[in-house]
Amino acid sequence: MGAEIPAGLVEAMRSADAVVVLTGAGVSAASGVPTFRGAGGLWAGRRVEEVASPLAFRNDPALVWSFYDWRRTELAKCTPNPAHHALARLEAILSEVTIITQNVDELHRAAGSRRVLEIHGSIWRLRCTGGCGEAEDRRAPLPPPLPPLCTCKSPLRPAVVWFGEALPRALFEEAQHAAGLADVCLVVGTSGAVEPAASLARIARANGAVLAEINPDGSLLSAMSRYVITDGAERALPRLVEAIEAAR
Ligand code: NAD
Repeated sequence: MGAEIPAGLVEAMRSADAVVVLTGAGVSAASGVPTFRGAGGLWAGRRVEEVASPLAFRNDPALVWSFYDWRRTELAKCTPNPAHHALARLEAILSEVTIITQNVDELHRAAGSRRVLEIHGSIWRLRCTGGCGEAEDRRAPLPPPLPPLCTCKSPLRPAVVWFGEALPRALFEEAQHAAGLADVCLVVGTSGAVEPAASLARIARANGAVLAEINPDGSLLSAMSRYVITDGAERALPRLVEAIEAAR
């Protein structure tokens, strides 16, 4: 058994023209990816905010890179879990599904989801701080030196959005647009503590979307959600998608 799947949510999703799914670290928890704010949300005794910021990179790029190199090495062992697979299936059965993810692990794409807006970037891409652009690099661990260097000799950085940085404007506008058009906004595995990502749920709701949440512990967005499924995404999402398929 698991938490009840509300029939009203199944019907709202089945009949929706557009669905937005806003995901956070919790959707990858069952893949073994640590969340930031749950138990174990520390690295070497430091708060993640202390090693994932432009200031930290300016002060000690090698320290920041040892955090990211560790994270990349851990992530390289992770594969999509039933929550990611269920969302890929949802895209196959409903007309317009957009996943907006705060995760940098690319596990939605690995599961086969195609319309994925990675608003916080990807840990598997590196960007030249000298302005040469960015490229995929999946080596984990990275060979020395840390920080890795571009061919122009400038340090490379992870192509992720750090605390205190703006989101890529065009991508975030696309996410805002999708949220504004959605009939249902499903919020999965996010604490709702990181802005402006959490604002997308508010935009969806303000524009008439049915807001629903899947989170075993609830979040800052629970109170404004019409439906709250208090369960892990890896259990609740496959059951929700099965129920939508059965109702079609
Ligand atoms: P968060 O760590 O702040 O919150 C995680 C949420 O997931 C919590 O509310 C928790 O109750 C919930 N949760 C835990 N296990 C769950 C499960 N099995 N099913 C569903 N929910 C579960 O994460 P956030 O809101 O995504 O914000 C943190 C920031 O950290 C984001 O910007 C994100 O980019 C980054 N981050 C990314 C990853 C990743 O790429 N996988 C991992 C950690 C953090």
